[in-house]
Amino acid sequence: MRVLHVCSEFFPLLKTGGLADVIGALPAELNEQGIDTRILIPAFPAVMRGISAVTETHLVRSVETFAGQVNVLYAQYQNVPVYLIEASHLFEREGSPYHDAHQHDYSDNVYRFAVLGFIASELAKGLDSHWQPNIVQAHDWHAGLSCAYLANEKRHGKCLDVKTVFTVHNLAFSGCFASHFLEEIWLPADFLHVDGLEFHGQLSFLKAGLYYADHVTTVSPTYADEICTVEFGCGFEGLLQTKRKNHALTGILNGVDDAVWHPQTDKHLVQNYTHKTLGKKTANKSALQKELGLTVAPQKMLYAVVSRLSWQKGLDLVLAASPYILEHDAQLVVLGSGDEGLQHAFLHLSQQHPTNIGVVIGYDEALAHRIVASADVLLMPSRFEPCGLTQLYGLKYGSLPLVRRTGGLADSVNDCSLENLADNSATGFVFERETLADLQRAIKRSLVLSADKTSWETVQKQAMAADFSWQRSAKEYLSLYSRLK
Ligand code: ADP
Repeated sequence: MRVLHVCSEFFPLLKTGGLADVIGALPAELNEQGIDTRILIPAFPAVMRGISAVTETHLVRSVETFAGQVNVLYAQYQNVPVYLIEASHLFEREGSPYHDAHQHDYSDNVYRFAVLGFIASELAKGLDSHWQPNIVQAHDWHAGLSCAYLANEKRHGKCLDVKTVFTVHNLAFSGCFASHFLEEIWLPADFLHVDGLEFHGQLSFLKAGLYYADHVTTVSPTYADEICTVEFGCGFEGLLQTKRKNHALTGILNGVDDAVWHPQTDKHLVQNYTHKTLGKKTANKSALQKELGLTVAPQKMLYAVVSRLSWQKGLDLVLAASPYILEHDAQLVVLGSGDEGLQHAFLHLSQQHPTNIGVVIGYDEALAHRIVASADVLLMPSRFEPCGLTQLYGLKYGSLPLVRRTGGLADSVNDCSLENLADNSATGFVFERETLADLQRAIKRSLVLSADKTSWETVQKQAMAADFSWQRSAKEYLSLYSRLK
């Protein structure tokens, strides 16, 4: 079995969200488990720099495409073989792979990401005489056209033994472009159809993945159920219901990369610790309180957020709950960036309460690790959450997640209900509705439990013992690939 992962982010080289973490861990783990796995990604500057710093790249082939000539390069990065698409006119842009510094999507994104899908299909057709995938797994809308190009090849009797998997990390990004581009990117006109990649008169790269893939996966079982409903389906629920009926939709929960996120070895921490030395966790909290100018008081409950600041993440509820947190003599730390209104509101809050609320706007990997290690409770009141990784990190670090029961949050956190406490399965706090009252009740329960140090520590240890390894997730992908072949 030879699997090609097609994507646009790759931790630690280029990351805007959880997708990068998945690509940084899953292909390596699949290789570990004996599946011959490679990655295909555009040669964005950060990716190219990171790879060139440690190894050489080789030219596989120059290819003439609808967007001009591109070079397909090959390199081996951290034991994972990687194909890079080098095309300076398309990809040599610093920062986000998707938009400019003003958050405006690049106007040529349609070509940039169509090329990604096109090259995936060329590799499946035998572009590299040394290696040819028989499973192509495309991630999110950026890679969705891989499935359409391959469907077109199959129509012409080629690549018949290649199966496609499309993985949805977030259904809310549909990758829509004007329909007139279709022929320009070398896809047949009849693909612009409701039974095809048409979506509200436009062409949707996401729908191309959903429709043409042999199998659709998403990053948690609950999200796989949710996206079949009107509430979460973003208009794709009908198509997804059909996939479900045909047994072509599966939810596989993401894992945690131990090499990056482990409290015993994490190089970003002031003090490493394990479930046996939980007392040492406090040193991280004191250091963080000092770093952010908060009152240094290890006994104060510390609530934290590490997140994109967006409507999806429900952080307006955290803003609304902040007086409640302060009333209970607790502290709040927020690291994030995104929505300007939320950024301003959090900054304003921290200016009003500088000794109890610390806010850092921006993206800071090292600080994210220090916060996850320092927090007593990690807040994730998401409106929807395909998987969510921060709660998995929180569990691993004994920093109890407080989450809304949706998507991957529902699949990974067990509430501190009396029953769960009694049978030693509690690992965090879960609330149901996206209301301030529900969030505050969950915060209250965390405050009440924190007064009982023994119970708190028991729950921390249960959280740290939970198995969210990539080994487990990779086994599920493996069994899916086997079913497809
Ligand atoms: P999403 O992909 O929707 O943004 P996830 O929870 O799946 O959400 O993944 C987010 C990833 O990005 C996690 O690894 C989290 O630690 C990280 N992250 C989010 N915001 C920041 C930030 N401001 N600084 C550093 N890391 C961040």
